[in-house]
Amino acid sequence: MPSQSSNVFSEAAPVRQTLETPTRALSIAAHPDDAEFGAGGTLAKWADAGCEVTLLIATDGSKGSWDPDQDPATLIEARRREARSAAAVLAASPDVIFLDHVDGELHHSPELRAELCLWIRRLRPDVVLSWDPWKRYMLHPDHREVGWGACDGVVAARDHLFHPEQLVDGLTKHRPDALLLYAADEPDHWEDVSSTFERKIAALLEHSSQSGTTMQDAATDQEGLAAFEARISDWCRTMGEPVGLPLAESFKLIRP
Ligand SMILES: [Zn+2]
Repeated sequence: MPSQSSNVFSEAAPVRQTLETPTRALSIAAHPDDAEFGAGGTLAKWADAGCEVTLLIATDGSKGSWDPDQDPATLIEARRREARSAAAVLAASPDVIFLDHVDGELHHSPELRAELCLWIRRLRPDVVLSWDPWKRYMLHPDHREVGWGACDGVVAARDHLFHPEQLVDGLTKHRPDALLLYAADEPDHWEDVSSTFERKIAALLEHSSQSGTTMQDAATDQEGLAAFEARISDWCRTMGEPVGLPLAESFKLIRP
């Protein structure tokens, strides 16, 4: 009986592709802390090497609390401040783009595609990063919706017949070189984040309103902080394992 390893698919080792540091990168996230979880180490590494990194956040983050007494308007303001502080830690542009769709109610609509297309045409990123909408069993609707929006926005931005009304006052179509999807269903691209792992953690910790939800008690007690760091470290170590990287972020790479 043939062993499992005779299967051609299990024998094929993943090949780590390399991506040159882009001139400009645009992260298209659903919530203020998504980019840091999915690609914080990569974005910090590129920013350090001279890449102009811009963070775009599609929703207002107004559902990011498990506290029944939380006022949504106060939470929205706190999360905006946290997003800007995290951008500073990553050395990203201070001009974080907030689209302010209602958290939890993001729709992969023609309007969202047009908005994302416009920002891609304005900012002209070489690389666009977002959630992988093909990820099986990804529960949060905003993560799926923003992933579809980013994919469709990239396609629309590259062809002049999509949203031609945007192509005025010198604005032209734009085709990014790469689309990197994080939390990927089938990762095929890895970025070494050993040098910026601490910054990924530090940027995540700027989202202190999320301590008590997705970040457990990371920002409120030492034990919680250690557990949070260990969780993210385990995650990055696991992502790097297939290609022999000590700490990595993995992606699905699409060449638009
Ligand atoms: Zn999120």
